Amino acid sequence: MAGQVRPITLVGTPVLHQACRPVQEFDAALAELADDMFASMYAAEGVGLAANQIGVDLRIFVYDCPDEDGGRHKGTVVNPVLELPDLADRRLDDSEEGCLSVPGPHARVARPDRAAVHGFDVKGDPITVEGTGLLARCLQHETDHLEGKVYIDRLSARARKKVLKEYEELRAAAAEAG
Ligand SMILES: [Zn+2]
Repeated sequence: MAGQVRPITLVGTPVLHQACRPVQEFDAALAELADDMFASMYAAEGVGLAANQIGVDLRIFVYDCPDEDGGRHKGTVVNPVLELPDLADRRLDDSEEGCLSVPGPHARVARPDRAAVHGFDVKGDPITVEGTGLLARCLQHETDHLEGKVYIDRLSARARKKVLKEYEELRAAAAEAG
């Protein structure tokens, strides 16, 4: 892996809570950013990572994630636009979700069980990625990040508070352990 592992941005950092800027240049710097994002995602043992999770304000995410049949899918999506099934065809999958930027806790989030994103690869060629199972969840979670939304923003106020409390307690314990 060519990329460099960069620190993961944590919840509360402004870049995670605002919409990212569209990518305009498909240049070497963008390819390098994608490499760094893969390296950072693997180091943190995640299945997806958005650029603002390493502090970069650009609309790009990477993923390496299984679908509902266990097939592995890996790639980069630049300037993604999410497409969900029509309401009439929509089935919700109410499964546990977590986030590298809120390390520790998990919470149930109901999301459509299939999703597609339209966008570009790092070279600027148009692509569409369709996903089921965990991949469908990942595509939605990462696109949310680029809109400045963390999964806990989709929880009830009470569930959100519980997740943040668990996260803070783990942080405090880790700080104490040195
Ligand atoms: Zn996340």
